[in-house]
Amino acid sequence: MSSPLPDEALDALVLVLDEIRLGRSRSRSELVDRTGLGRAIVAQRVGELVDRGLVVEGAPGPSTGGRPARQLTFRAAAGHVLVADLGATSVDVAVTTLDGRILGHHDEPARVEDGPEACLDRVEALFELLLTTTKHVPGRLWGVGIGVPGPVEFGSGRPISPPIMPGWDGYPIRERFAARYGAPVWIDNDVNLLALGEWRSGVAAGHDNVVVIKVGSGIGAGIISDGRLHRGAQGSAGDVGHIQVSDDPSVVCRCGNVGCLEAYAGGAALGKLGETFARDGRSPRLAIALDQSGLVTAEDLARAASYGDPEAVTALQSAGRRIGAMLASVVNFFNPSLIVIGGGVANSPDMFLASIREAVYRRSLPLATRDLQIAHSSLGGLAGVIGASSMVVDQLFSRDSIGRWLEAGHPSGSPDLTLARAG
Ligand SMILES: [Zn+2]
Repeated sequence: MSSPLPDEALDALVLVLDEIRLGRSRSRSELVDRTGLGRAIVAQRVGELVDRGLVVEGAPGPSTGGRPARQLTFRAAAGHVLVADLGATSVDVAVTTLDGRILGHHDEPARVEDGPEACLDRVEALFELLLTTTKHVPGRLWGVGIGVPGPVEFGSGRPISPPIMPGWDGYPIRERFAARYGAPVWIDNDVNLLALGEWRSGVAAGHDNVVVIKVGSGIGAGIISDGRLHRGAQGSAGDVGHIQVSDDPSVVCRCGNVGCLEAYAGGAALGKLGETFARDGRSPRLAIALDQSGLVTAEDLARAASYGDPEAVTALQSAGRRIGAMLASVVNFFNPSLIVIGGGVANSPDMFLASIREAVYRRSLPLATRDLQIAHSSLGGLAGVIGASSMVVDQLFSRDSIGRWLEAGHPSGSPDLTLARAG
């Protein structure tokens, strides 16, 4: 066991480790160039990280004139992370390494409206299943990450008045998992985790200002601002589904307000619209879907649109235009370089993305859209669990946490890491 580091040494250690684990610097000389730290300080901090088993030093690379550089890599197999991404109608669980690589994964239908006890019992059972069926799970459990489809107060890890999650308001998710696993636990909403996943390993990699929209059962946005996930003061940033887009009193949202975007263009609203088309004979294709499963989902509507069903096409284009109009305001306000469209409804024909794109370009200022890209999410259903793993590891290696477990060599057995430091 090594002795504790003074504060300024810890600052440099976190900086150097971030450079190495995020793949930005691969040698001591790159670290010196990129961090502005002196050569001796870099050498000391790298030495610490190697001693503590967080960084591995490779064989000398090819010489480029001077002394050949030894490649530095993050030891991602020092431990493992358990993650779960709960959607309105599904659950994804995974066990990953410390760089978000998925070692084992499972997904199945679930109903978040069944409440926290039923849902989280199942998550725990699935974690056990993963740990027994996944080969070569490395090291100890370093942390647990959970995503839920509603607003989360990030500091406490509790859902706050989530509109589609009856029984979850204020539920102590963190305390439950921390008590069971004896490891630190972080909770965030599913859209932030989608954004983190796409940013770390997907289509948003390399962009510093990104808006990731999830069109699932509802609609939400994750915001990467200046190279950081922007959660806002309480953790509710990006809740764009409840922006008011009309004052038609007949359009009541699940949140209780009138005229929310989600009540027009969210997956639940689109499914309901599709069901109307099926029942009143306007769409024979959706009538078949209704016959077969007893309900029409947004995915059914998207599939019907891809076969050219005229009502489904019109509905999807109209939803795309409404989302695009909202995004145009976001673009004017925030000036992202990339908008990513994800979620179940986004796996729909290109006409949906085209309608969004058309509305954004038509209604945003030219300077804001000059270099703006709009793209589908690239990680599909895995973005949430990859993002949850990134959340846990980023928190573990944050300046606030790392000093509290570094001496022990690992954070397992430290569920209190998530508590704010006293003083
Ligand atoms: Zn609403």
